[in-house]
Amino acid sequence: MYAHPSQLRAANRRRAFRLLLARGPLSRADLARATGLSPMTAGKIADDLIRDRLVEEPEPGDAPSARPAMGRPPRNLAISSTRHLPIVELGVRSTAVMLQPLDPTKQGPSISFPTPRSIKSLLARVDSARRRLHIPPADVLLISVPGVLDAHAHRVLCSPNLPIIEQPGFLHRLADLFHASPCAVQEIQALALGHQAHTPADLPPHQSFVLMDFGDGVGGALVARGQLFQGSLPMSGELGHTGVHGNRRPCVCGSIGCLETLVSRQGLLSSFRQHLKRPNASWQALRAHVASRGIEPWLARSIDAAAIVIAGAINLVGTQDVVLTGDLPDLHPDVGPLFERRILLHSLISRLGRLTCHIAPRRRILGLIAAAADRVLLPEPELAEPVPNAQLPHASPARATRP
Ligand SMILES: [Zn+2]
Repeated sequence: MYAHPSQLRAANRRRAFRLLLARGPLSRADLARATGLSPMTAGKIADDLIRDRLVEEPEPGDAPSARPAMGRPPRNLAISSTRHLPIVELGVRSTAVMLQPLDPTKQGPSISFPTPRSIKSLLARVDSARRRLHIPPADVLLISVPGVLDAHAHRVLCSPNLPIIEQPGFLHRLADLFHASPCAVQEIQALALGHQAHTPADLPPHQSFVLMDFGDGVGGALVARGQLFQGSLPMSGELGHTGVHGNRRPCVCGSIGCLETLVSRQGLLSSFRQHLKRPNASWQALRAHVASRGIEPWLARSIDAAAIVIAGAINLVGTQDVVLTGDLPDLHPDVGPLFERRILLHSLISRLGRLTCHIAPRRRILGLIAAAADRVLLPEPELAEPVPNAQLPHASPARATRP
């Protein structure tokens, strides 16, 4: 599978890092067992990761229970808690700046503020937070981005709920504040990467799931056989902007009747206000109402609309695991089971296999760390194989048509 020893070594380093990310501290013997590598190879990989400050092997604590009755206490390998990554989490309502330890179970210092409505104020607030947190210059700035992101071109193509960040060069200007290069991850894809990284029993390449998040916007992401699915256009997973029959609500994207207008936080609130005929009812009132009354028809209709869209996605990709995160599944314990019943009704999955709706917390920071590991910290080696001139390929049509 790997043509070159350096590729194999890089793949093993990634695998070891991912295992530690998912399972927490492991002894060298456990790492060898879990990766299927020889103890000597696993040990070399551990040494590499320690040298690069991605992993640490601290002295065991003083807790008496940690000590075996005889001999030296075992040392465990763990994701580094002393190496940090600066992160900017751009949100529609609030933005956070943080200095996050690589170890996702640890929390670094952070500052959150309401997202300003101008690019100048946004950059100024981020810079002020950076200075107050004493964030040193870094190689890379991790950025979580709402909307449609071209991660390779470092460009936000379309962000209907936060249009100011569409300005060309914005991600570079943000990263320049940290003297860093930008590493931007679409916010729902970050959740999918986080869910994937958290699920230890099911490490790549075996995972396949559709994740849908319900927040200020509504979006999806697909992991197929352990890989985040990316189409040729960077709009993969934009399930929230699928039209719902009979829905006439205008959407921030400019269209009419998108699913997002029904099941985003604002969409749910609009339906609730219509139902109660209370135009000023708050989100807290909605939560209290649903907690006491359960899923009434006004809410069930919106869940059904979302289930139809998810059913289309799972019919397309052939997965039987759906992960739901965010506000809607958090409203009532019956939301998950209702989703499961309605997706089963609207898809072919019941004839072919089981369906499981997992209600999961948002694991965005973990997803950003996993993305940083793959893209920046432990990248695939670029093989500079000398190619004889006669064998140089002609420019491919795809490349030739690029601007
Ligand atoms: Zn829309």
